[in-house]
Amino acid sequence: MDYNLDQTELEQSNPIPEILPVIPMRDTIVFPFTMYPVLIGRETSLKAVNEAMGSHKMVLLLGQKDALIEEPGLEDLQKIGVLGQIAQMMPLPNNMIKVLISGVTSVKIEEINSEKGYTEAKFTPMYDYGPKKPTGKLGALVRKTRQMFERYVLMNQELPEELLAGNENQMFVVQGLYFMAAYLELDMDEKQKMIELKSIEAKYKYLLTLITREIELQTVSTEISERVQDEIQETQRKFFIQEQIRALQDELDEGEYGDPELQKLKSLIEAAGMPEEVKVKATEELDRLRKTPSMSPEYGVSRNYLDWLVSVPWSTTSQDNLEISRVHAQLDKDHFGLEKAKDRILEHIAVLNLVDHLKGQILCFVGPPGVGKTSIAKSIANSLGRKMIRISLGGVSDESEIRGHRRTYIGSMPGRIIQGMKKAGTVNPVIILDEIDKVGHDFRGDPSSAILEVLDPEQNNTFSDHYLDVDYDLSKVMFIATANVASNIQPALLDRMEVINLPGYLEHDKVEIARKHLIPKLLKSHGLKKKDVKFEKAAVFHIIRNYTSEAGVRVLEQQLAAVCRKIARKLVEAGKDATKEPFVVTVAKVPELLGVEKYRDRLLDKMDKIGSVNGLAWTSTGGAILQIDVAVVQGKSNFKLTGQLGDVMKESAQAALTYIRAKADVYEIDPVFFEKHEIHIHIPEGAIPKDGPSAGMAMALAMLSQLTHRKVHHNVAMTGEITLRGEVLAIGGLNEKLLAAQRNKIKKVLIPADNEPDLAEIPDKIKHGLQIIGVKTVDEAIGHVLI
Ligand code: ADP
Repeated sequence: MDYNLDQTELEQSNPIPEILPVIPMRDTIVFPFTMYPVLIGRETSLKAVNEAMGSHKMVLLLGQKDALIEEPGLEDLQKIGVLGQIAQMMPLPNNMIKVLISGVTSVKIEEINSEKGYTEAKFTPMYDYGPKKPTGKLGALVRKTRQMFERYVLMNQELPEELLAGNENQMFVVQGLYFMAAYLELDMDEKQKMIELKSIEAKYKYLLTLITREIELQTVSTEISERVQDEIQETQRKFFIQEQIRALQDELDEGEYGDPELQKLKSLIEAAGMPEEVKVKATEELDRLRKTPSMSPEYGVSRNYLDWLVSVPWSTTSQDNLEISRVHAQLDKDHFGLEKAKDRILEHIAVLNLVDHLKGQILCFVGPPGVGKTSIAKSIANSLGRKMIRISLGGVSDESEIRGHRRTYIGSMPGRIIQGMKKAGTVNPVIILDEIDKVGHDFRGDPSSAILEVLDPEQNNTFSDHYLDVDYDLSKVMFIATANVASNIQPALLDRMEVINLPGYLEHDKVEIARKHLIPKLLKSHGLKKKDVKFEKAAVFHIIRNYTSEAGVRVLEQQLAAVCRKIARKLVEAGKDATKEPFVVTVAKVPELLGVEKYRDRLLDKMDKIGSVNGLAWTSTGGAILQIDVAVVQGKSNFKLTGQLGDVMKESAQAALTYIRAKADVYEIDPVFFEKHEIHIHIPEGAIPKDGPSAGMAMALAMLSQLTHRKVHHNVAMTGEITLRGEVLAIGGLNEKLLAAQRNKIKKVLIPADNEPDLAEIPDKIKHGLQIIGVKTVDEAIGHVLI
């Protein structure tokens, strides 16, 4: 087909009929000057083609407004279409035909009908081919459009480059226009608009925007596909690297743990005898450690944790020596007296002979400092052949001190229990929980709940330490607690323990302890030989009486140590020339060795005085004599208490005074006296904490002495709380108070009658030489105290 026609040529060579059959087009438009195969299957369209083939082979191609309509009515067709010439027709199976149609010109439909079984229409051709050689504005537009089309073709790999030459060769500007439009991906509406636009210039402008849009789309899609390509490559690269790492790792695994340190840890884990779940945890941690760079902080944390896991004992057990006679001998050798404690320990060991381990038998030694609580616990561990660990609980107020800190804290560590177990190195040591009555609690949590878990036989086989983070079995540990005062121990803890009281020693006991235990021990530790030094018994007595004032023997031990130091110096200074005679510590030499006496015997003058009474106090450091002085001066009615007394003691002084005033007539005291006098109670001895109600009776008698001008027996001491009616109520710490009375050479002790049954519990040694009288009321006491 020759396209090089102008309007007249076309009409002359092939006159166009006025009415032509119409083929509705669903999804394409054959542009003028282009050739395009069209598939035809619809009945009416087939008829239209037949009609055309029978005459001019010309058809009108009209776009459907809606491609989905199967049988479009007249109103469904566009009013502008294309006149086409059928160039070829090919029948297809399924009653379809393929017709090759070349577009001639756009047309405007004037009239349309479908009366003949197919649609036919009357039309007007819209010849606007434009100039052959565009100039001016149009020329520029055409050039620009061609350039852009070139770019588009070059970008689009699906289009052959030959198209560029084809574009150059177009005769009419309009030819070029439709040629280019045919290669763009346009939808039906865009194609329709292209033929509908009236001027050639408008058509070019529209084409230019379409080409530009296509170029952009092309750019974007190229970018996207490049990015996708990159991403694919990146994933492949990563995968490849990971595979390499895995291969290298496998290679390392063959030699297990390349690092000899880790290899060592591995064998320690194997050898530790851990429970299975702990071993699994340790192995996991080791794996993590292996993958952690050794310079990173995590490495240190992880390493430290593993070190703990392998160094805490999991199964190492020491063999118990449960031979009772041997243990007995050992305990006797280490400690003087303490019969009750020793008996209890031997019973405990007897049971251990019969059962594997004893559940819930926790001994708690209670007594003042220096009575041997810790040292007897050590002695138990020694005689059993167990390791011994001492954990001091005094002032521990933070739960994490017992249970440790979680590993997330920098520098965190297990708590004291696990630290102790590591130190012990066996799963069955004796752990001494020292000063269990001094456990505090504050905002950081209450450590007693953790201690409770430690001591509870139902729970302590799965003790949880925050740091270790695995259950730890404490059930084979033998716990022994010590305390100064049982009533200060948390009730829940006290419930778990069997309390053994160690009240303190008499002078004679102390002399024995000093000579048999303390002195030999001290001589040894000071590098002195037995033959170098001799302590006279009287000198030891003298030291006990005048250089110590305590229930236990701790200060005594310190004083004896001071003596040993002095002697050691003398011996060294004397050098080789020294005589071979031993150094004898006599009473006379004590001041030279220890300086002036620290405790003058308070009852030395042995004088009976008015207004001065011996009370008996009981503190965590043991019993003590409390001297109570009362003075009366003229002045306004007043009552004064000095000597740093606690509130309870002040109240009990008030109660005593009220009682005396109430019974002033009985005691023959002028009631007006109280209005004109100031009564002053003073209790010296700064070292003794003064509180509690048990000095009530003593204060009442001191006041009575002063108010009735009767002297007080100097060798009588007393203890007892009083009521407003003068009844005497029971007190605590009787044992310690009697010991203090002994120490201070008291002859007669008044105690509340209610406490008399307790005397049966007190060793005879302590009661020996004391006249102990139980009183029910202040009145009963008067005869014993006042002269
Ligand atoms: P506590 O724990 O009760 O405060 P310690 O156990 O520290 O007292 O005892 C203080 C010192 O006194 C230790 O050297 C201890 O050996 C010694 N000691 C205490 N009681 C006795 C005793 N009955 N026999 C031998 N030594 C004793």
